[in-house]
Amino acid sequence: MKITRSSKTSLKSATAEKLKILNEIFHEYARVVNFFIAYFWEHPEIKSENQIKAEIYSLADDSWFTARMRQCAAREALSMVTGAKNIEKRKNSIELELEELLGEEIFGEPVKPVHKGKKMTLSSQVVRVEKGRNSFDLWLVLSSVGKEMKLYIPLKKHRQFIRWEKLGKTASSVVIHREYVQISFEIETGEKKEEGKIIGIDAGINHLMTTSEREFIGNDIKHLISKIKRKRQGSEAYKRAKKELSYYIHKTVKDLFADNNLRLVVTEKLKNLKLNTKEKSKTKEFRKTLSNWNYRELLRIIQMRCEENRVFFRSVSPFKTSQRCPRCTHTQRENRRGEEFECLKCGYAEQADYVGSLNILHRFLTGRYGAGFKT
Ligand SMILES: [Zn+2]
Repeated sequence: MKITRSSKTSLKSATAEKLKILNEIFHEYARVVNFFIAYFWEHPEIKSENQIKAEIYSLADDSWFTARMRQCAAREALSMVTGAKNIEKRKNSIELELEELLGEEIFGEPVKPVHKGKKMTLSSQVVRVEKGRNSFDLWLVLSSVGKEMKLYIPLKKHRQFIRWEKLGKTASSVVIHREYVQISFEIETGEKKEEGKIIGIDAGINHLMTTSEREFIGNDIKHLISKIKRKRQGSEAYKRAKKELSYYIHKTVKDLFADNNLRLVVTEKLKNLKLNTKEKSKTKEFRKTLSNWNYRELLRIIQMRCEENRVFFRSVSPFKTSQRCPRCTHTQRENRRGEEFECLKCGYAEQADYVGSLNILHRFLTGRYGAGFKT
């Protein structure tokens, strides 16, 4: 399986002089992209990159850019135009929900996009990443931008970059932003594993993850979240605390994969915030769970780790997974009281998050797609 990972690295090691040249490139890039946007807007028959032939990108021949650079600009313009015209895709879930409620479209005609010179998506035709010899780890080399122009910008390698570099080959594409550079890697992971543990994971605030193997992992999560809540939103201390939480989640998930030979991980899908707040009686329970933002971040990290480790990742509906008895299947809200689960029918008693993880795994294995994983 092929996966893509990207890594951001700051441009702050670049000298003012180099940034000035980069600024000029940005300026011209935006101008040329906007020229092509106007062109593609009038030529809807051009839909894919391979239709951008030399006769098209040579239209911008008043530019000092090379043909290769104009080609990059034309590609960016085309993707902006097709993105803007594809209204359905642009709508987010809230807008779609609103439409269903109103029974009408909430968007009118597509709006012609404008490139504001904030990022450049460059191919290996004009940019490459080279290893450095001195104090700076990497060089971003912009060649073939304009005639006789070659720009070397120093970049610092960081932890993530080194990891991707080890796993896969470098730079399939580079996106240059005003303050940082985003380098993408294509990594070949190989086929998914045929053997290994199959686990369900319940996420919560007392333990970040509770597994169906009865493991309670990440017990500092509550402390780290309350630390963020004590800080003033947007302050440096707040950002630091958020970073600390993010690092903690990454580390905890990493350890889970290092300590176990996994084949399949099942989690709950993102809980619907609206449903939870509607029913007052549930708000108390909801406070014990992770916020939607943290939960989404956790899911994203688990999924990434699964991809990198050739592990299957699935998620199931969170409906009543905390109320069902794993022994007799009796389902009742009162079965759960805080961290305690006690079945009101058969008396089965266990830690509530562990019960949740068993139900999550059970839901997947007995569902439509679970058959192939049964042991
Ligand atoms: Zn029971």
